[in-house]
Amino acid sequence: MGGIIYLKNQNEIREIINYVIKKGSTVIPETLSKQIFEYCGANIPKQGLAKTEEEAISLAKSIGFPVVLKVHSFEIVHKSDARGVLVGLSSPEAVKEGFRSITENVYKHLSEDKEIHIAVQKMVEPGTEIILGMKRDEVFGPTILFGLGGVWVEVLQDVSLRVAPLNERDIDEMFSEIRGSALLENFRGSPARDLSALKPLMFQIEQLAVVFPEISEIDLNPVFLYEEGNGAIIVDARIVLSSENWVPGVLE
Ligand code: ADP
Ligand code: MG
Repeated sequence: MGGIIYLKNQNEIREIINYVIKKGSTVIPETLSKQIFEYCGANIPKQGLAKTEEEAISLAKSIGFPVVLKVHSFEIVHKSDARGVLVGLSSPEAVKEGFRSITENVYKHLSEDKEIHIAVQKMVEPGTEIILGMKRDEVFGPTILFGLGGVWVEVLQDVSLRVAPLNERDIDEMFSEIRGSALLENFRGSPARDLSALKPLMFQIEQLAVVFPEISEIDLNPVFLYEEGNGAIIVDARIVLSSENWVPGVLE
C-alpha cells in the first residue's frame, strides 16, 4: 500500500456524496458515512434505517439483539447531545420504547417539519476506543490523525498527526508517539491490540481524501480496536464536505 491509489466502489461512494449535496447538507450522517467506509472495505456494525417502530423492530430482529438505536437526521451532528443514542437494547419491546424516547428527545431541539429516521445497529463488543481522522489543510493538504479515544483525546489531546501520503513506517511512528501508546501493547496482563487492523483504515481515509477533493474532514470516533487477530470496527463516523460544493436550492 501507499503510492498507488486504489479505492473500491468509487461510483457508489460518489452517489452517496451527490445525494447528500442534493439534500443541501455538508455533513454526511453517520449511517451513510459508515456505508461509504463499508464500500471501501472497512468493518462496520450491521445497520439499517427505520421510519416506524415496526420497521425498527423487524430490522433489530434481522440484525440480531442486542442493538443500538441512534437518531439519523441531516440536522443533528452530535447524536448523544440530543439524547439520540440508546445502547444495549435486547428485546422488541425495548426497541419500541427506545424508538419513542429518541423521537421525543430529538424533537425538543428540532422543528416538527424536519424528518428523522432511526438507525438500528448491531451492538458490538466493547474494545479500546480509537479515533482516526482527516482534515484537509489549506497548505499541506490531507492530514491524518490517530489517537486514543475517550479522556485521552478529550482531556489530554493525545493525538498524532501526519501529512499524507502515509507509508506503513509513518503509521507505526504515529502508533508509538502518542503518550498512551503503552495501552496498545501488552499492558498489565491485557493483550496487545490489533494495530495492524488500523492501517487499512488509515489508508482508506487517505484515499477518500485524494479521490474526493470535496471531502474536507473525516472523523471516525470511536473505532473499537480488539486484541491481536480480532480486528477493528467503526462505531461512529462523520464525513464533512466543503461548503464550496454546497448547491443551495437543490432540495428534493
Ligand atoms: P455521538 O454522535 O454522540 O458521538 P456515537 O455514535 O459515537 O454518538 O455513540 C455514542 C457512544 O455509544 C459511542 O462512543 C460508543 O461508546 C457507543 N456505541 C455507539 N454505537 C455502538 C455500537 N454499534 N455498538 C456498541 N457501542 C456503540
Ligand atoms: Mg461519536
